[in-house]
Amino acid sequence: MASADSSRVNDHVSSGSSSGQGAAPPALFEVVKVYPSRGPMTQYRLASATTFTCSRCQRQKTAKLVATRNGQWDALLCNGCYGFIISRE
Ligand SMILES: [Zn+2]
Repeated sequence: MASADSSRVNDHVSSGSSSGQGAAPPALFEVVKVYPSRGPMTQYRLASATTFTCSRCQRQKTAKLVATRNGQWDALLCNGCYGFIISRE
């Protein structure tokens, strides 16, 4: 028996950094409506006004409308910043 040297190199696929795009919202946010995405921006209507800190203007907001960029729920945007950003893109 010829020992065929066919041992495959187990090409370890480098697991790319999962950016968590399209991640489900945290339990804190009860989404009742998802608006059509504008590029990387997606706006959501919540069941009740929820307090969050806008990642752009750094202000604490309490609103039913929140927006994410690239599905990042840890970097929420307020309605004002959402409108500002999409008006410039
Ligand atoms: Zn803002």
